[in-house]
Amino acid sequence: MRLLSLEIEGFKSFGRRTVFNLDKNIIAIIGPNGSGKSNIVDAIRWLLGEQSQKQMRISEKTDILFSGSNNLNSSNEARVSLILVNDDNKTVKISKTLERNSYNKYYVDSKQVTLKELQSVFDTGIGKNFYSIIGQGQIGEIVNASPEDIRNIVLDASNIANYLEKKENSLRLLEKANVNLERINDVLFIVD
Ligand code: ATP
Repeated sequence: MRLLSLEIEGFKSFGRRTVFNLDKNIIAIIGPNGSGKSNIVDAIRWLLGEQSQKQMRISEKTDILFSGSNNLNSSNEARVSLILVNDDNKTVKISKTLERNSYNKYYVDSKQVTLKELQSVFDTGIGKNFYSIIGQGQIGEIVNASPEDIRNIVLDASNIANYLEKKENSLRLLEKANVNLERINDVLFIVD
């Protein structure tokens, strides 16, 4: 899977539609303090479903809407899209939008999907605690983490946590099915 480009419009400091070409192995974004470098990473996190307002550096979900500048009105809609080439060499565009007074909407190509469906475009490493994006200060946190925390980070990053969650859900369903079976056996016994 390769990233091709990122489009941001109406999101944080990006009032106008801005397109970043990501089709290189290493990309460095440089700029003065407060010029919006971290907002680019925030846009990717937001698109991929980051729910933590602390991680997004906002206090309300509408704080991500461009609040206006001297020569540009504030935005009523934010839109972030990533265009990538998947393992089958097909170009896929994933997008997220938020209109003021509405709710987050996710798209794969032009089809509206759930966040889970959007995340399933990626095979591994993208989840609620994805480590494919390492934010400022996170390396320090990892270095100082307890062995148990490090184990959880590895489980998350390798997508094993996802399978453990699925296993737990399946075990719960199995348990429910067993209870139902017992009940049916009770009824059968009474009928006998
Ligand atoms: P540093 O190098 O200091 O980490 P940076 O380049 O990463 O800075 P960001 O944190 O990405 O900068 O951007 C901060 C800027 O984004 C601030 O000027 C802030 O006013 C602006 N900003 C944040 N949210 C919005 C918004 N909703 N509307 C308009 N501008 C916003």
